[in-house]
Amino acid sequence: MTTVAGLYFDGRTSRAHRVNLTVEAGVVRLSGETERSCPLDQLHVSEPARHIGRKVTFPDEAYFEVQDAAAFDTLLEQTGYRDSSVVRMQRSRHGILFGVIATILVLVLGYLYLLPFAADAIARHLPAGVERTISKGTLEFLDQHVLKPSRLPAARQAEIVDHFRNLAPPQAGAPSYEIVFRSSRIGPNAFALPSGQIVLTDELAKLLDDDEIMSVLAHELGHLHERHLMRRLVQSSAVGAVVTLLFGDVSAVVANIPTVLLDMKYSRDAERDADDYAIAMLKTNGIPLSHMADAFEQLKRKEGDGGMPYLSTHPPTAERIAHIRQAE
Ligand SMILES: [Zn+2]
Repeated sequence: MTTVAGLYFDGRTSRAHRVNLTVEAGVVRLSGETERSCPLDQLHVSEPARHIGRKVTFPDEAYFEVQDAAAFDTLLEQTGYRDSSVVRMQRSRHGILFGVIATILVLVLGYLYLLPFAADAIARHLPAGVERTISKGTLEFLDQHVLKPSRLPAARQAEIVDHFRNLAPPQAGAPSYEIVFRSSRIGPNAFALPSGQIVLTDELAKLLDDDEIMSVLAHELGHLHERHLMRRLVQSSAVGAVVTLLFGDVSAVVANIPTVLLDMKYSRDAERDADDYAIAMLKTNGIPLSHMADAFEQLKRKEGDGGMPYLSTHPPTAERIAHIRQAE
């Protein structure tokens, strides 16, 4: 039977014992400066790695460091030991190439499919407190930098709130929301924060008539219903932030949100979903869809005037307007 030279460490002191390792009838024996034996199946053999000697670890953390690598390989063969498939694969060129391709594939597929899926799942399962904290931080930031207190008369604000409250949602499970009025440097605008606050600017309230405002609010409610912003935030905040979110320290994420919000374009799918929600809501309440199309056309025209328009976040494209007109 093969003898493997090496060093034995008892795991408690740094002293090295010069020993030889042999295997007989399923039992490993060390002999030399110290003696020890142990059944083969209780030992752990470290994976082979370049420039690092392999280790055989005993149940009590004592270990044998292989010095004669060739003899050790022979011994492993004799005892029928198999490295894990990963190790065997790493050793072959094809294996390496395969590993690289597989890793890239996993990353690409993960980005395309898993991340949105995970973001959706995370967004749906975040504790309400996290959403509130995030939204509070965002609104505070916007109030400091972009928004000003509304100058819309309280009676007019109440009118808009009541009007929207009296509309029936298009389907069960409508999200809870609160309409928040602000004046802005960003022109006619509306957007929904994850906690359910829908920010409506005075400029938008003045530009549009009531049914048009209802269309915009319904669209925002659609975003809330689908949790688009939260999903988007989770996605764009990437892995580190997700971890942060999960472990509860949201301050770093909060700091990041206004940038994301202002810089963000909802995806075409998200816009389409929110539009469909709004279309269904208007139909449910007998409001002609032409009001919604008119609203977006006016906002689109404003955009042409060079103001900062109804959101870079919901670009009112011709495609969207056509979709609304077709739904009539
Ligand atoms: Zn939108």
